[in-house]
Amino acid sequence: MTKINHTIVVRKRCTYVDSKGNRCTKETTVTHPYCPQHTQKVLGLKVAKSTVPFAGLGLFTLKPIKKGDIALFYEGEKLTVKEYNKRYEKEGFGEYGMTLGARHVIDARKTSSGLGRYVCDYTGSGQKANVKYYDNKGKIEITAKRNIEAGEELMVSYGKEMRTAMGFQHINVEEKKRLKKEKKALKKSKKEKKLKK
Ligand SMILES: [Zn+2]
Repeated sequence: MTKINHTIVVRKRCTYVDSKGNRCTKETTVTHPYCPQHTQKVLGLKVAKSTVPFAGLGLFTLKPIKKGDIALFYEGEKLTVKEYNKRYEKEGFGEYGMTLGARHVIDARKTSSGLGRYVCDYTGSGQKANVKYYDNKGKIEITAKRNIEAGEELMVSYGKEMRTAMGFQHINVEEKKRLKKEKKALKKSKKEKKLKK
């Protein structure tokens, strides 16, 4: 009888191929394209314990990143919200989903290049976010908000909605502008009410 293995495969081989065509023999987790050594060499990024208390693992840059430059992409499978919810119905929300507008979600959990999911929220770090998500026609860019020095941990602001709902919640620029406008209008109306009294 064949033995059925129910264990989820969490290791795979590093995809790095050197100039002679030899593939790296080291192992990596399923979410990393490269072993730790080649993640550093090729991408200039390192996954290590986050400086944010209780955040688990974080993502650090080994090279300086200029303000406005793309640090990395948040990659994953593009699913509709319906597909995504169906996938994680039983276990609740997937930890590594990021909503893209109202209808799509990027699921970084099962892909080989989901390093973006290690970027922690800045809350509790005592510092400000140094990268932000930028939705470029459905491709999420993780862009530097300021000049970032080599060795710094990349930190983002997940946004209020994410903290209450799921792993990552992406609020697009238009939505942010609208919220800001609403807040301003509310403040104004409150001020006017006060004056009338
Ligand atoms: Zn390798």
